[in-house]
Amino acid sequence: MKKIVVVGIGPGDEAYMTPAAREAIISSDVIIGYKTYIDLISHLITDKKVVDSGMKREIERCNLALDFAEEGAAVALVSSGDPGIYGMAGAMLEVKTQRDSKVEIEVIPGVTAVSAAAAVLGAPLMHDFAVISLSDLLTDWKVIKKRLQLAAEGDFVIALYNPKSKGRVTQIEEAREILLHYREKETPVGLVRNAKRAEEAAVVTTLKEMLQHPIDMLTVVIIGNSNTFVENGKIITPRGYQL
Ligand code: SAH
Repeated sequence: MKKIVVVGIGPGDEAYMTPAAREAIISSDVIIGYKTYIDLISHLITDKKVVDSGMKREIERCNLALDFAEEGAAVALVSSGDPGIYGMAGAMLEVKTQRDSKVEIEVIPGVTAVSAAAAVLGAPLMHDFAVISLSDLLTDWKVIKKRLQLAAEGDFVIALYNPKSKGRVTQIEEAREILLHYREKETPVGLVRNAKRAEEAAVVTTLKEMLQHPIDMLTVVIIGNSNTFVENGKIITPRGYQL
């Protein structure tokens, strides 16, 4: 039996993929992943068996990975960013447990979207922050709203993953409403689309005006805390140093 590596490939640009992730991909026999991510690493996988699949087939991908590994193949299951952050690591470990499989599973971390986006914007995450996904496919919207409320009340910098898709447009509007109960209209907001990959685009705006800019599933939204400010186009959340 060989092992499965659940590999975080980072945000997209190869310069932001770790050497450990690259090595894990190169030394695998079978690569499994969502098509968009396979395309991002296609140059690394010329001589391997590749199984790409569409979105929402996560459990199927995990079962396939176990099938291949149990037959003796070294398998890389690829995830964008970090596989332990809304990625494939959890599902893979759960499926292994459910099947009571002896296959070893290793998780290789990656640069997650929020740290890639923060670097583009300046330094918005310098104090305590909360990461919240607005996708209600697997989580009840009531739970998401409660977390938004409590993170806003706690004055956490808030980063939103999966902020808006073609079929899911009202959540970001509701999230903004919740935040406006606790934060000033002028609170800095950063929107980064395609952070650290081709076609990267960043906007520095405010809670008041954020919805006037494009937001989609390739975007991370970062909302400052009550001390966050903008200087020379960069968002800064002070850590508290005396300058
Ligand atoms: N495991 C991934 C997150 C998957 S959830 C990670 O650690 O980054 C998918 C969401 O992540 C997208 O809807 C978007 O909000 C965000 N995302 C992923 N890659 C991104 C990138 N390069 N730029 C901006 N947002 C990104």
